Amino acid sequence: MIKDSDFIKNSEVPGPTKEEIRCILLCKSEVSNGDVVVDIGCGTGGLTVEFAKKAKKVYAIDLNPVATQTTQENVSKHQVEDKVEVILADGLETLDELDDFDVLIIGGSSGKLPQIIKKGYKKLKKNGKILVTSILLETATEAIYTFKELSLKPEVVNIMISKGTPSSRGTIMFSNNPITIVSTKKF
Ligand code: SAH
Repeated sequence: MIKDSDFIKNSEVPGPTKEEIRCILLCKSEVSNGDVVVDIGCGTGGLTVEFAKKAKKVYAIDLNPVATQTTQENVSKHQVEDKVEVILADGLETLDELDDFDVLIIGGSSGKLPQIIKKGYKKLKKNGKILVTSILLETATEAIYTFKELSLKPEVVNIMISKGTPSSRGTIMFSNNPITIVSTKKF
């Protein structure tokens, strides 16, 4: 796994997704080296780069030009240029232009989550996975309802990571914001 400190950051862009969360997402996605991955809301490219190391191809999409710029910088830094296409656009509209894929990660949707899930599910290959990462409860709930509307069973996992920091008295644990992953598989 790539260390959080090994990513280029930008104060205008959220991310990178923390190392342990990236690790769990990789695991849950069941990504393999023949897979095509779509990362909607790529932010700094934390997930894009991590998935590019395991997959055949990653489409990294963000509507914020600072985000696509930062993603491109991290893609170059971690030498996965040949596997990543960075797209500056809205994720919902971009889905129309893509061929079918194996994994869809949704890290940002700006009010269009149900539409992105519905359109994305149509383009998802058999055994493919959709993973929604949410900081807000409302986002997680919206994902659960949308999966149910599509007659899909959502798996919901809430992740709270605490990391140890050395102090003069011993190791103090500091916790990160909990992240909820709502995911489903296409059978
Ligand atoms: N996983 C990222 C962080 C995601 S932050 C990382 O590891 O760095 C969420 C991103 O979603 C933001 O950069 C925001 O610009 C983007 N976003 C929000 N709505 C979007 C949409 N409809 N289409 C594409 N990107 C979107």
